[in-house]
Amino acid sequence: MEDKIRIAIQKSGRLSEDSLKLVKECGIQFNNGTGKLKSEADNFPAEFLFLRDDDIPGYVADGVADIGIVGENVAVEKDKNTVTVHRLGFSKCRLSLAIPRAGEYTGIEWLRNTNIATSYPKILSSFLEKHQIQAQIHEISGSVEIAPSIGLADAVCDIVSSGSTLMSNGLKEVEVIFKSEAILIAHPQLNAARQRILDQFLFRIKSVQAAKNNKYILLNAPNESIPRIIDILPGMKSPTIVPLAMSGWSSIHSVINENEFWQIIENLRDAGAQGILVVPIEKMIL
Ligand code: ATP
Ligand code: MG
Repeated sequence: MEDKIRIAIQKSGRLSEDSLKLVKECGIQFNNGTGKLKSEADNFPAEFLFLRDDDIPGYVADGVADIGIVGENVAVEKDKNTVTVHRLGFSKCRLSLAIPRAGEYTGIEWLRNTNIATSYPKILSSFLEKHQIQAQIHEISGSVEIAPSIGLADAVCDIVSSGSTLMSNGLKEVEVIFKSEAILIAHPQLNAARQRILDQFLFRIKSVQAAKNNKYILLNAPNESIPRIIDILPGMKSPTIVPLAMSGWSSIHSVINENEFWQIIENLRDAGAQGILVVPIEKMIL
Protein backbone atom coordinates (compact mmCIF):
# COMPACT_ATOMS: atom_id res chain seq x y z
CA MET A 1 0.00 0.00 0.00
CA GLU A 2 1.17 3.50 -0.80
CA ASP A 3 2.34 5.46 2.22
CA LYS A 4 0.49 8.57 3.36
CA ILE A 5 1.61 11.58 5.30
CA ARG A 6 -0.48 12.69 8.27
CA ILE A 7 -0.85 16.46 8.46
CA ALA A 8 -2.09 18.06 11.69
CA ILE A 9 -3.88 21.38 11.36
CA GLN A 10 -5.83 23.49 13.83
CA LYS A 11 -9.47 22.46 14.00
CA SER A 12 -10.87 25.93 14.51
CA GLY A 13 -9.09 29.13 15.38
CA ARG A 14 -6.75 31.73 14.05
CA LEU A 15 -4.59 29.28 12.08
CA SER A 16 -7.36 27.22 10.50
CA GLU A 17 -8.53 29.36 7.62
CA ASP A 18 -5.08 30.17 6.26
CA SER A 19 -3.85 26.60 6.79
CA LEU A 20 -6.76 25.26 4.74
CA LYS A 21 -6.25 27.94 2.12
CA LEU A 22 -2.59 26.97 1.74
CA VAL A 23 -3.49 23.30 1.34
CA LYS A 24 -6.04 24.23 -1.30
CA GLU A 25 -3.59 26.46 -3.16
CA CYS A 26 -1.23 23.47 -3.21
CA GLY A 27 -3.92 21.70 -5.22
CA ILE A 28 -4.78 19.25 -2.46
CA GLN A 29 -8.47 18.49 -2.19
CA PHE A 30 -10.34 16.86 0.63
CA ASN A 31 -13.75 16.96 2.16
CA ASN A 32 -13.73 18.53 5.61
CA GLY A 33 -17.30 18.18 6.69
CA THR A 34 -18.05 20.10 9.88
CA GLY A 35 -17.01 18.34 13.03
CA LYS A 36 -14.80 15.82 11.26
CA LEU A 37 -11.56 15.10 13.07
CA LYS A 38 -9.89 13.23 10.23
CA SER A 39 -10.06 13.52 6.49
CA GLU A 40 -8.26 11.91 3.60
CA ALA A 41 -7.10 13.90 0.57
CA ASP A 42 -8.60 12.84 -2.77
CA ASN A 43 -5.62 13.63 -4.97
CA PHE A 44 -2.54 13.58 -2.71
CA PRO A 45 -1.19 10.87 -0.37
CA ALA A 46 -2.18 12.73 2.79
CA GLU A 47 -4.52 12.46 5.70
CA PHE A 48 -5.51 15.54 7.71
CA LEU A 49 -6.00 15.53 11.45
CA PHE A 50 -7.92 18.47 12.92
CA LEU A 51 -6.67 19.26 16.41
CA ARG A 52 -6.31 21.96 19.04
CA ASP A 53 -3.19 23.90 18.26
CA ASP A 54 -1.67 23.17 21.69
CA ASP A 55 -1.69 19.44 20.91
CA ILE A 56 -0.02 19.68 17.49
CA PRO A 57 3.68 19.82 18.55
CA GLY A 58 3.23 16.84 20.90
CA TYR A 59 1.40 14.73 18.30
CA VAL A 60 4.08 15.49 15.71
CA ALA A 61 6.87 14.65 18.18
CA ASP A 62 5.16 11.36 19.08
CA GLY A 63 4.58 10.48 15.43
CA VAL A 64 0.78 10.47 15.68
CA ALA A 65 1.04 13.10 12.95
CA ASP A 66 4.05 13.37 10.62
CA ILE A 67 3.86 17.10 10.05
CA GLY A 68 1.80 19.98 11.39
CA ILE A 69 1.00 23.63 10.95
CA VAL A 70 1.26 25.59 14.18
CA GLY A 71 2.18 29.02 15.53
CA GLU A 72 5.88 29.30 16.25
CA ASN A 73 4.92 30.62 19.71
CA VAL A 74 3.20 27.32 20.51
CA ALA A 75 5.98 25.19 18.97
CA VAL A 76 8.64 26.98 21.05
CA GLU A 77 6.57 26.98 24.24
CA LYS A 78 5.76 23.25 24.01
CA ASP A 79 9.42 22.54 23.25
CA LYS A 80 8.80 19.06 21.81
CA ASN A 81 11.13 17.04 19.64
CA THR A 82 10.10 18.40 16.22
CA VAL A 83 11.92 20.17 13.40
CA THR A 84 10.88 23.42 11.76
CA VAL A 85 10.62 22.70 8.05
CA HIS A 86 9.36 26.00 6.68
CA ARG A 87 8.02 29.41 7.69
CA LEU A 88 4.55 30.02 6.30
CA GLY A 89 4.16 33.78 6.65
CA PHE A 90 0.61 33.90 8.03
CA SER A 91 -0.89 34.23 11.55
CA LYS A 92 1.75 36.79 12.40
CA CYS A 93 1.59 38.00 15.96
CA ARG A 94 3.86 38.85 18.87
CA LEU A 95 4.16 37.77 22.45
CA SER A 96 4.40 40.88 24.61
CA LEU A 97 4.53 42.04 28.18
CA ALA A 98 1.82 44.49 29.17
CA ILE A 99 1.18 46.42 32.36
CA PRO A 100 -1.76 48.53 33.64
CA ARG A 101 -2.12 51.74 31.66
CA ALA A 102 -1.63 53.90 34.75
CA GLY A 103 1.66 52.23 35.61
CA GLU A 104 4.87 54.08 34.85
CA TYR A 105 7.12 51.65 33.00
CA THR A 106 10.76 52.30 33.72
CA GLY A 107 12.24 49.51 31.63
CA ILE A 108 12.75 45.82 32.27
CA GLU A 109 13.68 46.57 35.90
CA TRP A 110 10.02 47.42 36.46
CA LEU A 111 9.26 43.69 36.28
CA ARG A 112 11.55 42.72 39.14
CA ASN A 113 9.64 40.85 41.88
CA THR A 114 6.31 41.30 40.08
CA ASN A 115 3.70 38.66 39.46
CA ILE A 116 3.19 38.03 35.72
CA ALA A 117 0.25 36.07 34.31
CA THR A 118 0.81 34.14 31.08
CA SER A 119 0.02 31.04 29.05
CA TYR A 120 3.66 31.01 27.91
CA PRO A 121 5.70 30.25 31.04
CA LYS A 122 8.67 28.79 29.16
CA ILE A 123 9.17 31.62 26.70
CA LEU A 124 8.61 34.16 29.49
CA SER A 125 11.01 32.55 31.93
CA SER A 126 13.77 32.37 29.35
CA PHE A 127 13.23 36.07 28.60
CA LEU A 128 13.39 36.96 32.28
CA GLU A 129 16.44 34.79 32.79
CA LYS A 130 18.24 36.42 29.88
CA HIS A 131 17.68 39.81 31.50
CA GLN A 132 18.40 38.50 34.99
CA ILE A 133 15.04 39.56 36.33
CA GLN A 134 13.53 37.62 39.18
CA ALA A 135 9.72 37.53 38.90
CA GLN A 136 6.81 35.27 39.76
CA ILE A 137 5.21 33.53 36.78
CA HIS A 138 1.54 32.76 37.20
CA GLU A 139 0.45 30.29 34.53
CA ILE A 140 -3.15 30.55 33.34
CA SER A 141 -4.56 28.98 30.22
CA GLY A 142 -6.88 31.72 28.94
CA SER A 143 -8.26 35.25 29.50
CA VAL A 144 -4.80 36.29 30.65
CA GLU A 145 -5.48 39.96 30.03
CA ILE A 146 -8.02 40.28 32.84
CA ALA A 147 -5.53 39.08 35.48
CA PRO A 148 -4.29 42.54 36.57
CA SER A 149 -7.79 44.03 36.97
CA ILE A 150 -8.86 41.17 39.26
CA GLY A 151 -5.72 41.48 41.34
CA LEU A 152 -4.18 38.22 40.13
CA ALA A 153 -1.06 39.75 38.59
CA ASP A 154 0.91 42.98 38.15
CA ALA A 155 1.57 42.35 34.47
CA VAL A 156 0.70 39.93 31.69
CA CYS A 157 2.62 38.25 28.91
CA ASP A 158 0.27 37.46 26.05
CA ILE A 159 -0.25 37.29 22.28
CA VAL A 160 -0.86 40.66 20.67
CA SER A 161 -1.69 41.54 17.11
CA SER A 162 -3.46 44.91 17.01
CA GLY A 163 -3.30 45.67 20.73
CA SER A 164 -7.03 46.35 21.00
CA THR A 165 -7.64 43.53 23.51
CA LEU A 166 -4.95 44.94 25.77
CA MET A 167 -6.38 48.41 25.47
CA SER A 168 -9.93 47.36 26.30
CA ASN A 169 -8.57 45.69 29.44
CA GLY A 170 -6.77 48.83 30.57
CA LEU A 171 -3.30 47.52 29.70
CA LYS A 172 -0.41 48.87 27.65
CA GLU A 173 2.24 46.89 25.80
CA VAL A 174 5.74 47.53 27.16
CA GLU A 175 8.02 44.81 25.73
CA VAL A 176 7.84 42.50 22.73
CA ILE A 177 9.49 39.26 23.77
CA PHE A 178 8.80 36.96 20.79
CA LYS A 179 7.68 37.41 17.17
CA SER A 180 5.67 34.57 15.70
CA GLU A 181 4.16 33.29 12.48
CA ALA A 182 2.73 29.96 11.38
CA ILE A 183 5.37 27.32 10.71
CA LEU A 184 5.41 23.82 9.26
CA ILE A 185 6.89 21.35 11.74
CA ALA A 186 7.80 17.72 11.19
CA HIS A 187 8.63 14.59 13.11
CA PRO A 188 12.44 14.39 13.29
CA GLN A 189 12.62 10.98 11.59
CA LEU A 190 10.20 10.38 8.75
CA ASN A 191 10.50 7.23 6.72
CA ALA A 192 11.76 7.67 3.16
CA ALA A 193 8.31 7.47 1.56
CA ARG A 194 6.83 10.10 3.85
CA GLN A 195 9.88 12.30 3.52
CA ARG A 196 9.32 12.21 -0.25
CA ILE A 197 5.69 13.25 0.20
CA LEU A 198 6.77 16.05 2.52
CA ASP A 199 9.26 17.23 -0.12
CA GLN A 200 6.46 17.31 -2.71
CA PHE A 201 4.20 19.28 -0.37
CA LEU A 202 7.02 21.69 0.42
CA PHE A 203 7.79 22.17 -3.26
CA ARG A 204 4.17 23.17 -3.84
CA ILE A 205 4.15 25.50 -0.81
CA LYS A 206 7.25 27.29 -2.09
CA SER A 207 5.71 27.66 -5.57
CA VAL A 208 2.57 29.18 -4.05
CA GLN A 209 4.61 31.57 -1.90
CA ALA A 210 6.86 32.61 -4.79
CA ALA A 211 3.83 33.33 -6.96
CA LYS A 212 2.36 35.57 -4.25
CA ASN A 213 5.59 37.57 -3.99
CA ASN A 214 5.94 38.15 -7.71
CA LYS A 215 4.03 39.76 -10.57
CA TYR A 216 4.17 39.20 -14.29
CA ILE A 217 4.74 42.46 -16.14
CA LEU A 218 4.15 43.30 -19.82
CA LEU A 219 5.01 46.61 -21.44
CA ASN A 220 5.57 48.24 -24.81
CA ALA A 221 8.63 50.29 -25.65
CA PRO A 222 10.44 51.78 -28.64
CA ASN A 223 13.35 49.54 -29.60
CA GLU A 224 15.93 52.16 -28.67
CA SER A 225 14.72 52.04 -25.03
CA ILE A 226 15.14 48.27 -24.73
CA PRO A 227 18.70 48.25 -23.30
CA ARG A 228 17.74 50.69 -20.52
CA ILE A 229 14.58 48.75 -19.73
CA ILE A 230 16.47 45.45 -19.55
CA ASP A 231 18.81 47.06 -17.03
CA ILE A 232 15.86 48.03 -14.82
CA LEU A 233 14.04 44.68 -14.95
CA PRO A 234 15.51 42.12 -12.56
CA GLY A 235 13.65 39.16 -14.12
CA MET A 236 14.23 35.51 -13.30
CA LYS A 237 16.42 35.22 -16.39
CA SER A 238 16.49 37.77 -19.22
CA PRO A 239 13.14 39.25 -20.22
CA THR A 240 11.15 38.04 -23.24
CA ILE A 241 11.15 40.55 -26.10
CA VAL A 242 8.52 40.25 -28.86
CA PRO A 243 8.32 42.62 -31.85
CA LEU A 244 5.04 44.55 -32.18
CA ALA A 245 3.14 44.99 -35.45
CA MET A 246 4.08 48.67 -35.25
CA SER A 247 7.63 48.77 -36.56
CA GLY A 248 10.36 49.99 -34.23
CA TRP A 249 8.42 48.87 -31.12
CA SER A 250 8.55 45.76 -28.97
CA SER A 251 6.63 44.17 -26.15
CA ILE A 252 8.74 43.18 -23.14
CA HIS A 253 7.65 40.58 -20.57
CA SER A 254 9.23 39.84 -17.22
CA VAL A 255 8.63 38.90 -13.58
CA ILE A 256 9.17 41.40 -10.77
CA ASN A 257 9.15 41.13 -7.01
CA GLU A 258 6.32 42.70 -5.02
CA ASN A 259 8.77 44.50 -2.71
CA GLU A 260 10.50 46.47 -5.45
CA PHE A 261 7.36 46.85 -7.52
CA TRP A 262 6.57 50.59 -7.43
CA GLN A 263 10.16 51.70 -7.76
CA ILE A 264 10.60 49.53 -10.83
CA ILE A 265 7.39 50.78 -12.42
CA GLU A 266 8.54 54.40 -12.00
CA ASN A 267 11.93 53.66 -13.48
CA LEU A 268 10.33 51.84 -16.42
CA ARG A 269 8.11 54.82 -17.22
CA ASP A 270 11.10 57.14 -17.07
CA ALA A 271 12.88 54.82 -19.49
CA GLY A 272 10.07 55.10 -22.05
CA ALA A 273 7.85 52.10 -21.24
CA GLN A 274 4.18 52.44 -22.18
CA GLY A 275 1.02 50.39 -21.76
CA ILE A 276 2.38 48.62 -18.70
CA LEU A 277 0.29 45.64 -17.61
CA VAL A 278 0.82 43.87 -14.29
CA VAL A 279 -0.70 40.41 -13.87
CA PRO A 280 -0.85 38.15 -10.81
CA ILE A 281 0.93 34.81 -11.06
CA GLU A 282 -1.03 31.70 -10.16
CA LYS A 283 1.96 29.41 -9.46
CA MET A 284 5.67 29.92 -9.88
CA ILE A 285 7.81 26.82 -10.26
CA LEU A 286 11.32 27.51 -9.02
P1 ATP B 1 -7.19 26.08 20.14
O1 ATP B 1 -8.62 25.97 20.43
O2 ATP B 1 -6.82 25.33 18.87
O3 ATP B 1 -6.28 25.73 21.29
P2 ATP B 1 -6.35 28.82 20.63
O4 ATP B 1 -7.49 29.59 21.16
O5 ATP B 1 -5.29 28.32 21.56
O6 ATP B 1 -6.91 27.61 19.75
P3 ATP B 1 -5.99 30.81 18.54
O7 ATP B 1 -6.46 32.03 19.23
O8 ATP B 1 -6.86 30.22 17.48
O9 ATP B 1 -5.55 29.66 19.57
O10 ATP B 1 -4.56 31.15 17.93
C1 ATP B 1 -3.80 30.18 17.28
C2 ATP B 1 -2.47 30.78 16.91
O11 ATP B 1 -2.67 31.85 15.99
C3 ATP B 1 -1.70 31.42 18.06
O12 ATP B 1 -0.93 30.47 18.77
C4 ATP B 1 -0.82 32.41 17.35
O13 ATP B 1 0.29 31.78 16.76
C5 ATP B 1 -1.74 32.89 16.24
N1 ATP B 1 -2.47 34.10 16.65
C6 ATP B 1 -3.06 34.34 17.82
N2 ATP B 1 -3.67 35.53 17.85
C7 ATP B 1 -3.46 36.06 16.65
C8 ATP B 1 -3.87 37.27 16.04
N3 ATP B 1 -4.60 38.16 16.68
N4 ATP B 1 -3.52 37.48 14.77
C9 ATP B 1 -2.80 36.58 14.10
N5 ATP B 1 -2.38 35.41 14.63
C10 ATP B 1 -2.71 35.15 15.87
MG1 MG C 1 -4.65 26.61 21.87
